[in-house]
Amino acid sequence: MRYVQVDTQSDPASPAQPSTEKQKDLSRILVEELKGMGIADAELDEYGYVYATIPATTDKQVPVLCYCAHVDTAPDCSGTGVKPILHRNYTGADIVLPDDPTVVITTKDHPYLQQRIGDDIITASGTTLLGADDKAGVAIIMDLAQYLIANPQIKHGKIRILFTPDEEIGRGVAKVDMQKLGADFGYTLDGGERAHLEGETFSADAVTVVFHGISAHPGYAKGKLVNAMKAASAFMNKLPRNEWSPETTEKMQGFVHPMHMEGVLEKASVQFIIRDFDTPQLAHHEERLRKLAIEAAAEFPGITTEFIIKEQYRNMKEILDQNPQVMAHAEEAYRRAGMTPERMSIRGGTDGSRLSFMGLPCPNIFTGEMGIHSKQEYVSVQDMEKAVETLVYLAQVWEEKA
Ligand SMILES: [Zn+2]
Repeated sequence: MRYVQVDTQSDPASPAQPSTEKQKDLSRILVEELKGMGIADAELDEYGYVYATIPATTDKQVPVLCYCAHVDTAPDCSGTGVKPILHRNYTGADIVLPDDPTVVITTKDHPYLQQRIGDDIITASGTTLLGADDKAGVAIIMDLAQYLIANPQIKHGKIRILFTPDEEIGRGVAKVDMQKLGADFGYTLDGGERAHLEGETFSADAVTVVFHGISAHPGYAKGKLVNAMKAASAFMNKLPRNEWSPETTEKMQGFVHPMHMEGVLEKASVQFIIRDFDTPQLAHHEERLRKLAIEAAAEFPGITTEFIIKEQYRNMKEILDQNPQVMAHAEEAYRRAGMTPERMSIRGGTDGSRLSFMGLPCPNIFTGEMGIHSKQEYVSVQDMEKAVETLVYLAQVWEEKA
């Protein structure tokens, strides 16, 4: 509840790293608290990353684990002046947020809350998000550090703590120093429902389709002028309406999604994101899109096209499948904590998908954060406690199996 009161909103329009200096306000607090626990090497670097070590308590050679969470909150909803409210022993009744009584958290909109009756629920007050995404993850890791330092009889290998900025704007691992981190396997604490374990994300490309036209004085343009905007519009009209889009797909289906369109007579472009769980399918989506662009261009003789593909991130499952113990040990830890693990796929990317391809296989563990990026965001204290318990078991499983 202290951490969410620190405004750490990131800003996609800022080229700086971190994108907003205020993210360091929380990171500095975390470093001080870690030092207060006796973790002397806790440090905040110039880019806004916090690194710290929980030393090993075993003589065995155990792979170094990294537990990771992000300090920033989403730009889509205000994070200024967050006033957290603790609702003890939640009854299942509607939660009316006092600073804007039109914001009501109900079990109808949030069916997961039904499973949390009897828990202590934290919400914001109605005018801001809560920031449980991902300060729940931060708090879980801080509590774990405190617990392991206070209980050295629990056997585990070296654990590296990593708190990142700018996850919400897709730049969370842009400046992470993998050498300095020195970890073998990682886990992000940024998932939702209890018992969910996320080891699969989309693979993602960005595509820009450009149409080049030919300009001429409109009074004397007959037979000369070719309008790029008209070609781009014809192209957009060829996109199917009932399939192949975010609004018509779910579960394991991929899509093609126009995000931005701009144009003048001479040049018009459309920016797409391309998503699929199966990486080779990206090329099929792109080929289909390219054909539509060529078809549209052919209707406007003189138009030329460009098709620019940029890789964004890849499905972490490709890496996790090569290191099956990362998921298997997590599942064992879930079971020891009394849960039946549920493997889930994320229709998006995580810092973990990027870290996995940077040499740190890194699935995502639940935190209880729900209704994220909105004023209806909430988290169960008991879910967070369950996550801490899971991390303790996880460190022990890695030590035992080493
Ligand atoms: Zn998050």
